[in-house]
Amino acid sequence: MRTSWGSATDRGRVRSVNEDALLAFPPVFLVADGMGGHDAGDVASRLAVEEFAQLAGRPTTSADEVHGCFIRTADRIREALDGRPCGTTVAGVAVTEHEGSAYWLVFNVGDSRVYRWADGQLRQISVDHSVVQEMLDRGEITPDEARNHPERHVLTRALGSGPLPEPDYWLLPAGPHDRLLVCSDGLTGELEDDVIAQVLAELADAQDAAQQLVELAVEAGGHDNVSTVVVDVATSGGGDVHMTLPRAGAGLGAGAWDEMLDGATVPRATTTGSKP
Ligand code: MG
Repeated sequence: MRTSWGSATDRGRVRSVNEDALLAFPPVFLVADGMGGHDAGDVASRLAVEEFAQLAGRPTTSADEVHGCFIRTADRIREALDGRPCGTTVAGVAVTEHEGSAYWLVFNVGDSRVYRWADGQLRQISVDHSVVQEMLDRGEITPDEARNHPERHVLTRALGSGPLPEPDYWLLPAGPHDRLLVCSDGLTGELEDDVIAQVLAELADAQDAAQQLVELAVEAGGHDNVSTVVVDVATSGGGDVHMTLPRAGAGLGAGAWDEMLDGATVPRATTTGSKP
């Protein structure tokens, strides 16, 4: 599997501080959207990036290592900000390996998102931890109503706001021509899915696509900080599975991989990186 990537972030037109932070360095690509204002939200998101950056430069990582980053980030936020009301989302993808094959581990806490663009279709992989998402799940509101709902910024999970982080995980074998998008809600709050899909379809270079998405979101209003990471994947093939790891606060356990991979199509691939 070969990857290339690009990233962009902007304060937007309204906020005085950029509380988003991002990391784009194999094997991990993520966006963190801090909440709590200057010297709080920006610190929380930066601590997340610092912690996950310790995985950077390795050929692959593991679900246990990613989960450890969540735990340590939450600890550091609690320590550094001493009970101040703040926190951060973290959403992203990491290259992982099972029996010599490469997979994407998608992870999420909060309402930053991971999308996959493949075969001309944009699909949201992560599920928001938000009040509005719960209303959607219960069928109380429509997706259109969700976009403008007054409580759309209220999160049900974040790092720093609770005793133990509860990330969700999904495992995807990389498709032959996948493109992954990781973004903060400053992007999805401004741009409809079809606009995002069009940019991902038209701009072949990952950095160009990441930059263009941010520029369009700022032009559309820039009401929030906006961040994007675009990751391109090229492999020789593989099946598509969507599975959720246990949400246990402790380690994921030695049997977790085998459970997740039961019945999965396993692509044969090797991993290399290339700078944009
Ligand atoms: Mg935001």
